[in-house]
Amino acid sequence: MREFDYQRATDVRTATTLLAENPDARFLGGGTNLVDLMKTGVENPPQLVDVRRLPLDAIEVTDDGGLRIGATATNSDVANHPEVRRRFPALAQAVLAGASGQLRNVATVGGNLLQRTRCGYFADVTQPCNKRVPGSGCPAIEGEHHNHAIFDWSEHCAATSPSDMAVALAAFDAAVSYETADGPGELSYSDFHRPVGERPDQEIALPAGALITGITLPGAALAARSRYRKVRERASYAFANGSIAAALEVRNGVVDDVRIAFGAVANRPWRAHAAERALLGRAATAEEFGAAADAELAAATPLPHNGYKVPLIRNLVVSVLTEITEEATR
Ligand SMILES: Cc1cc2nc3c(=O)[nH]c(=O)nc-3n(C[C@H](O)[C@H](O)[C@H](O)COP(=O)(O)OP(=O)(O)OC[C@H]3O[C@@H](n4cnc5c(N)ncnc54)[C@H](O)[C@@H]3O)c2cc1C
Ligand code: SF4
Repeated sequence: MREFDYQRATDVRTATTLLAENPDARFLGGGTNLVDLMKTGVENPPQLVDVRRLPLDAIEVTDDGGLRIGATATNSDVANHPEVRRRFPALAQAVLAGASGQLRNVATVGGNLLQRTRCGYFADVTQPCNKRVPGSGCPAIEGEHHNHAIFDWSEHCAATSPSDMAVALAAFDAAVSYETADGPGELSYSDFHRPVGERPDQEIALPAGALITGITLPGAALAARSRYRKVRERASYAFANGSIAAALEVRNGVVDDVRIAFGAVANRPWRAHAAERALLGRAATAEEFGAAADAELAAATPLPHNGYKVPLIRNLVVSVLTEITEEATR
C-alpha cells in the first residue's frame, strides 16, 4: 500500500497552483484510468488533485454553430447531450462505443483525452517498456503487437492511442483549452500528441501541470451527417482494433467536403489527410472511396501480426462513406 495525498480543488487557480508546487502530482478526473494504473504500480503520484467538482462541465453551442465542452463533463453527459447528437453525431457515437455505461458515468472529457495506451507491456511493471521506463526497450515490436500501430510508429514504441472520443475530435479540428499557474492557453488537437520518435514517454504537448479546461469544436455543417464506427474483438466493452470518424458533403454526385480520421492505428487519432485530398472533387462512389483509402494506407507500415488492420480500415472507409452518401440522397 503506497500512501498519497488527496486534495479536492474547488477552483481552477487552486488546482493549477497545487500542480505547480508539486510537479509529480496528478489531476484526478473519474479515476477510471489513473486509479487502475496506481493499483498496478504503473503510476505512483504522491498527490491527487481531484478536479471533478470544478465548474467545468458545461456543454454549449458556440456562435459559429460548433460546441464548447467542459473538461469535467462526463462521457455520458457528452454522449447524451442533444446538441452533441444533432451537430456532431460521430462524437456521441464514439463516446458511446467506449467503455461501459458505469464507466462513462464517471469518466471525464479531460481524463479521456489523457488516458494511457492499452499496450499490455506498458501495464505490466515486470516488463521493459520505453513508454513507462525510458530506455528500457520495447518488447512489443518483436512480441505481442496484434493491436499496435500501422502508421508512424518507431523502433522505440508502436503503441496506439485508445480513445474513441479523440478520433471524432481529430476529424473535426478540435482545440484543447488549458490553464497553468501562468495562465490560460489553447492547443490545436492536431498538435496535442508528440511524434513517437525516441521518447514515447513524452506523449502530450501540453505544458507541465496544465489542467485541461475544455475542448472546442468549430462549426461544420457536414458534421451533422457524421458517423463513427468501431471494430473490436467482442461486441461490447473492448478497445478498438480499428475505427473511423467520417463526414461527407456531396453535391451533384461529387464530393464537396470530407473529414476522415482513424482510431487504433497510431499513437494518436489518425487524420486521413491523403484520403481527404484524394476524394475532393471526385465522384461519391464506392470505387472512389476505396481509392482514397488506398491513398492513405500507402503510408502504412504494419508489423508482422497487425497487417489485418490495412483491409479493415479500407473496408471501414468504403462502408461508412457509402452509408453517409446513401442517407443523404434518401
Ligand atoms: C474496462 C475499461 C474499458 C474501457 N474502454 C474504453 C473504450 O473502449 N474506449 C475508450 O475511449 N475508452 C475506454 N476506457 C477508458 C475510459 O474511457 C477512460 O478510463 C476514461 O475516459 C478516463 O477518464 P477519467 O476521467 O476516469 O480519467 P482519470 O483516470 O481520472 O485520468 C486519466 C488521466 O488524465 C489526467 N486528467 C484527468 N482530468 C484532467 C484534466 N482536466 N486536466 C489534465 N489532466 C487530467 C489524469 O491526471 C490522468 O493522467 C475504458 C476504461 C476501462 C476501465
Ligand atoms: S509499444 Fe510502447 S507501450 Fe508498448 S511496450 Fe513498446 S514502448 Fe511500451
